[in-house]
Amino acid sequence: MPRESQQQKAVRTGNIIAVLRATYPDAHCELNYTNPLELLIATILSAQCTDKRVNIVTKELFAKYRSARDYANADLKALENDVKTTGFFRNKAKNIQACCRALVEKHGSEVPRTMDELTALGGVGRKTANVVLGNAFNINVGVVVDTHVARLSHRLGLTRETTPEKIEEDLQKLVPQDQWCLFSHLLIWHGRRRCLARLPDCPRCEVKDLCPRIGVPRRALEPLNR
Ligand code: SF4
Repeated sequence: MPRESQQQKAVRTGNIIAVLRATYPDAHCELNYTNPLELLIATILSAQCTDKRVNIVTKELFAKYRSARDYANADLKALENDVKTTGFFRNKAKNIQACCRALVEKHGSEVPRTMDELTALGGVGRKTANVVLGNAFNINVGVVVDTHVARLSHRLGLTRETTPEKIEEDLQKLVPQDQWCLFSHLLIWHGRRRCLARLPDCPRCEVKDLCPRIGVPRRALEPLNR
């Protein structure tokens, strides 16, 4: 693909979005939740864990802990046990409790709606805050950059950056703000179904004509070149 201007890249990004929207009209957050608190807890648990596993764990967790106060007052060992199978359970339980104590003490047990307030809660980073703001409140203040978004943004030639913060900055320049939340869902869905980490399915990829396939393993491209 010839070197493209920022404007050409933005147009190409728009075309990628259009194709992915048509491919995944139902793209959405795959964590199960019914309110902002549940999404916040599920997102904390999703670090280094699959959404599928988190959904199994939260089915019982959300039945047992119904409010920020329930987590704040929980016995830490019991909470650790309840989230054990999501991995890094001691840290996650500690973060959930610290975060919920702050919700009770500073926010009337409600999940706040700003990036600054959310990232001031224990164990809540920018990525978690972006997930909560975008999905629970429909507020687009950033782009969620997880492992799929980072990998696909690189392969699609939308960024050369390697840190989530820098990748997010590049994506914010290319994607219209009202589509930031949707955009990460589209890349995550495509990353899970087509552009897999180890071996992307480039020959059958819906956006292959828009993708420079940067850094893609040669064996994934061979069927294309035949
Ligand atoms: S063409 Fe290949 S590298 Fe590009 S998005 Fe599709 S599967 Fe991923």
